[in-house]
Amino acid sequence: MDAVIAKTTPLIEIKSPLLQRKSVRVLLKLDFKRDLYIQGNKWHKLKLNLKEAKRQNKRLLLTFGGAFSNHIAAIAEAAKRENFNAIGMIRGEELANQLDRWSPTLKKASANGMQFNFLSRERYRERNQADFLDKLQLQYPDAYLIPEGGTNQLAVQGFETLMLEINRQAPEWTHLYTAVGTGGTLAGLTAYSHVGLEKTTARPKQVIGVAVLKQADYLKKSIEHWVSATEAPSTHRAQWQLLNEFHHGGYAKTSSELIEFMTRFETEFEVPLDPVYTSKAFYAFYQQLEQDLIPKGSTVILYHSGGLQGRSDPLLN
Ligand SMILES: *Cc1c(COP(=O)(O)O)cnc(C)c1O
Repeated sequence: MDAVIAKTTPLIEIKSPLLQRKSVRVLLKLDFKRDLYIQGNKWHKLKLNLKEAKRQNKRLLLTFGGAFSNHIAAIAEAAKRENFNAIGMIRGEELANQLDRWSPTLKKASANGMQFNFLSRERYRERNQADFLDKLQLQYPDAYLIPEGGTNQLAVQGFETLMLEINRQAPEWTHLYTAVGTGGTLAGLTAYSHVGLEKTTARPKQVIGVAVLKQADYLKKSIEHWVSATEAPSTHRAQWQLLNEFHHGGYAKTSSELIEFMTRFETEFEVPLDPVYTSKAFYAFYQQLEQDLIPKGSTVILYHSGGLQGRSDPLLN
C-alpha cells in the first residue's frame, strides 16, 4: 500500500499582510494530500497497526466510530486495498434499518466491503472497556481491534516518520498547531518533535493541540501517558499544550465565526478545510496571533490533518 500513499506531502508558506505585520511565518503542512481516502493523520496512525495485524495473521480489522468518522473511512479503504475484512462498530442503532440516512462516509465504507454493527449510544459507551473488548475478541477471534479514532500506542509511534519529514522541510519551526479528537496525533507529534534535529541548534518548540470537543481536559492524562510511553529523544522534546476554548459548541458543531473563518481561509489560500477539525485548529492559531501570543520571528506550522474525505470538491485535485 505504501506505493499508493504519497511518500511526502508539501509544506507551503502562506503570506498575508496580517502575518507580515505580526512578523510571523506560517507554513501549511498539507498532509491531506497523503491519499484521497486515507488522509493525513489517519494514515500515520494506521500504518504500524496494519503491519502488526499482518504479523499476527489477523484477517479482519474491527474498529469503532460515528457515522461521519474519517477513521472509519480510512479503515474501510485500507482494508480493501490490503485484503482485510472490516467491521465498523457504528454509534447509532437507528441507522441499522435506515439506509437512506447513511452518511456518504458510511456508504463509501460499505461499498469498500466494510460490515457494520450499529450500537445504541449506551452500548457504544463501552467501546474502551476491557470486558466488552474481550467479548468482542472471543466473538471475532480473527479480528485485530483498533480503538475509536485509531489511537493506540502503535498509532502514536506512526508519527515518527511524519516528524522526520517536517523537520527536514522546516527544522526551524517553533510552533505546531494540530486539531485534537482523541489526542493521539498531538501525542505523536510531541513525542517525535525533535527527531532528526541537532539538540544544540534546534529552536525551542511547542506543539499546540486544539480540542474540537467540549470539556476535553480529560484527554490530558492519556496524552501525557502516550507521550511518555513513546521511546523517542525525550530529553529535548517539545512542550505541548491543549487549548480547550475553541470547540465552537462541541464535536461537529460550528459557529458563524468558524464558518466565516473557514470560507475566508479557503478563498485566500485556495486550501480546503473541514469544519470539524482543521478549521478549528487554524482558527485558534489566528485568535492567538491576534492576541499577540505568538512572538515575532516565530515559524508556525499549521498541520492540515485531512478530514476532506466526506467532501467532493474541486480544490481537492
Ligand atoms: C481524526 C482527526 C483528527 C483528530 O486526531 P486525534 O489523533 O484523534 O486527536 C484531526 N484531524 C482530522 C482531519 C481527523 O480526521
